[in-house]
Formats: sequence, C-alpha cells, structure tokens
Amino acid sequence: MKKKILVVEDERTIADILVFNLEREGYEAIAAGDGPAGLKSALEDEPDLILLDVMLPGMDGFEVLRRVREKSQVPVIMLTAREEETDKVEALDMGADDYITKPFSMRELMARVKANMRRTVPPEAEPPAAAVEGRLMISPEQNTVYKNGRPLDLSVREYDILSFLSSTPGRVVTREELMEKVWGYEYYGDLRAVDVAIRRLREKVEDEPAQPKYIITKRGMGYYYDER
Ligand code: CA
Repeated sequence: MKKKILVVEDERTIADILVFNLEREGYEAIAAGDGPAGLKSALEDEPDLILLDVMLPGMDGFEVLRRVREKSQVPVIMLTAREEETDKVEALDMGADDYITKPFSMRELMARVKANMRRTVPPEAEPPAAAVEGRLMISPEQNTVYKNGRPLDLSVREYDILSFLSSTPGRVVTREELMEKVWGYEYYGDLRAVDVAIRRLREKVEDEPAQPKYIITKRGMGYYYDER
C-alpha cells in the first residue's frame, strides 16, 4: 500500500511542487493550505508522515504540531525559513522529528522523508520472548523497542539513537558522533538537536526521566547506554 504524506503549506507553488514530486516517488500526497485544514487532515486522514510549514494562515505550524502531538506520534518534518534559527530547536522541542530549511532541494527533501518514515511493524508481529520481563529489549528485526513486553512508540530518530547507543553499552558517545551517525551530514553546528532528542527519548524509555537508568549522561562528554 502507498504511504500517505500530508503537505501543509500555504504557498501554492511550493505545495504543488511537493505533491507532484511525492507522487512521482510513489507516495500518495494530500495537501492543506492553512493551519486549521492541516490539523483536521492530520487527525482525520491518517497520514504516514506530515510536511508542515511554520508560517501558516489561521494557525501556525507550531500550534498545529502541538495539537497533533496530543493525539499522534506521526512523523513530522517542519519546513522552516533559513533565517529563523530558533524555529528549528523549538520545532524539535515540540516534537517534530526533523526540519528542513527553505529553500531546499527536492532530493534533500525526499531523503528526509525516507529517513523519517516510520518503519512499521507488521501487526501480527509477536513480541520476542525475551521482551516479556525486565529491562529494555531492542528488536532489530522489527525496528522496535520493547519495555516490559510492550512496544514503545518511538520515532525513527529515537529508535536509531537508542539502537546506536545500545550497540556498544558503556561506551561514551559524543554528541558530535551521535549527530554524525544518526542524523547524517549537514546538521553540524546545532548539537542542541541531540539534547532535545535525548530528552524526548528518555521521556518514553525511562521510568524517571530525571534519573535515567538506560541513557546516561557523562558530563562534558556525551551519552552512553547502561545495560545493567
Ligand atoms: Ca508559509
């Protein structure tokens, strides 16, 4: 089945180009031209991913994102203006999975779409036997993390961070290395994105996010995974 992508963008030319290119890549694309319409579509049309502009009539992209996040963990990529540095961190902080700055190349955008598309677990998938008790259980076959036998609702990025850290338990990974390995190129200079992602990940993974047991901060150095 085709993955469905919602484009929330008030500039008609950009929206049309996005829809055209997404469809050419084999996605089903739907568009909304203002904030309220975008929110409605996000909640009712069950998109697999949302491209969300920040500056929108009716309701801005941050507000749309906030309201979507009350109900859904659908991957959201924010489209931000290049000059608005603070927008990026605010977007991540509010639960966006990624952002891309305008003007962007279509190739770059498609790469981001692909990278953030949730890898869906087949509904019939059974939790691995080892997932039933105790600590976290990461299942690379299912791209899923289980806690006490239940799958956690992680974004692609959150899964990738956890997966990377836990591949070498106890080894301290710098924020730069995490950014390079998990985010890929071009994010350099905005390491706050790593801290935001770690904080959100802890909220999902840890019993007490303020006193983490799995993802530990090594002050001044980075993070490591504790598997005890
Ligand atoms: Ca706009």
